[in-house]
Amino acid sequence: MAYDPDNIFAKILRGELPAHKVYEDDATLAFMDIMPISRGHVLVLSKAPARNILDIDAADLARVVAVVQRVARAAKEALGADGVTIQQFNEPAGGQTVFHLHFHVVPRWEGQPLRPHGAIKADPADLKRDAEQIAALLV
Ligand code: 5GP
Repeated sequence: MAYDPDNIFAKILRGELPAHKVYEDDATLAFMDIMPISRGHVLVLSKAPARNILDIDAADLARVVAVVQRVARAAKEALGADGVTIQQFNEPAGGQTVFHLHFHVVPRWEGQPLRPHGAIKADPADLKRDAEQIAALLV
């Protein structure tokens, strides 16, 4: 399948739709998932126009994975989490719903189950607060 430049994340990357930004550099953008499966759920995107891990250039993938590690460390520390789950879905059969490459960084707390994927909208005030706390550790 070809990359669709009108997907939601491409619009966020172009600044056509808003997002609670956590981190940005020349190759990546990280922002809060609006339907988080746990508190502090961050999406880390490559700026390359890739659908998913199956078509992205290896160098672009390496850049985004390095930022996934930084965001995971920052989110865990900023929110006092016990652990972090990293998820990444490819094509509809693989669970992907937005077709621009992204990683999920999901802070975890002992004994706390995840909410369903992409189902329950968060309070924007909570997203703003958590984005600011995580971003403060990424400067
Ligand atoms: P995927 O299944 O493609 O890996 O996950 C897409 C993710 O994007 C889901 O976790 C969903 O909650 C999130 N999402 C969908 N639409 C938006 C949006 O407009 N803004 C943000 N920030 N996240 C979104």
